[in-house]
Amino acid sequence: MNSSDLLSLTPQEMQARFAEEGLPRYRAGQVYGWLYKGVPYAEMGNLPCELRTHLEERYPLTLPRIERKLTSAIDGTVKYLFSLCDGQRIESVVMKYEHGYTICISCQAGCRMGCGFCASTLCGLARNLRPSEMLGQIIVASRDLGVRISNVVMMGIGEPMDNLDNVLRFLHLVNLKEGLNIGYRHISLSTCGVVDGIRRLAKENLPITLSISLHFTDDEARSAMMPINRKWQIAELLDACADYFRSTGRRISFEFTLIQGQNDSPGQARKLAALLRAHLGAGTPLHVNLIPVNPVAERGLLPSERARVDRFCKTLCDLGVNATVRRKLGSDVNASCGQLRYSEGERSVL
Ligand code: SAH
Repeated sequence: MNSSDLLSLTPQEMQARFAEEGLPRYRAGQVYGWLYKGVPYAEMGNLPCELRTHLEERYPLTLPRIERKLTSAIDGTVKYLFSLCDGQRIESVVMKYEHGYTICISCQAGCRMGCGFCASTLCGLARNLRPSEMLGQIIVASRDLGVRISNVVMMGIGEPMDNLDNVLRFLHLVNLKEGLNIGYRHISLSTCGVVDGIRRLAKENLPITLSISLHFTDDEARSAMMPINRKWQIAELLDACADYFRSTGRRISFEFTLIQGQNDSPGQARKLAALLRAHLGAGTPLHVNLIPVNPVAERGLLPSERARVDRFCKTLCDLGVNATVRRKLGSDVNASCGQLRYSEGERSVL
């Protein structure tokens, strides 16, 4: 880990670091509190001036900087384009629900998974985000909006399982009482199906919600659109989900993007129900989120019509599979699923 990255440390690690430098331990607690409020060193009022200067030089703060901010006129959803300390750009989205504010964060600049319907992967992977850069998105957005963010979804740019060490540290940090104090049950993590990552996450036994971007019911179609399926096919993926449920007891959520004429027939819905039953068993709690595909200019895919989406949903429900159609938020600021991209020059959608 980068030795000057203070925000990626736990309170104990920060204390140890301060002790090594001959600084009083209680100073670490003070700094920790300020860091999580997004306050720059210059404004850490209870620290002596020399200490602020020392910290500024030794541990420069590298919070994401708001480059653009778009607020939806329809539902108040806010999309941020952040630039990171090395100029990389990422996006986050804050949504308001009845139960509070939810942030959708990015875990990588770009993505190398190559899914054929997704904007985030168009330029490939630039780099992994550090735990502090994942926390930073929440800290900066929360300070900017003046609200407490109580839910986190790791469904922005990037594949969490492709940066799992940093993601696990982030999950630990975001949960700490001294920090943002966001309960594991208020955190969801989505993966395109990296099975070894799912198995590793299961061992951590965190009560977060695992979400699987399934989208297809047959391997041929899934492999054509989602290269990860060439490594781990649907059966292996669903078996890993069953094991995840057995070890964590947490309900699994499946994302199913409906693309006109490709995967949206009632027959496909029946096949999905049968697959889930076969691999997860009848009693396993699960939820299917149906999302009409959001058009991405470069991809040329069309969303299924509303009546077809409703029919798909009803077919699943009639077969005893808990399914809902995802509400679309922030559509006027391009904040919907799969619309976030590693923005650069004219490729930017902003
Ligand atoms: N890499 C992780 C996290 C990204 S989450 C994953 O794949 O799960 C983003 C979600 O949006 C995923 O479920 C992804 O499959 C979905 N998505 C991507 N492009 C989309 C599009 N054009 N329309 C609807 N959903 C899309």
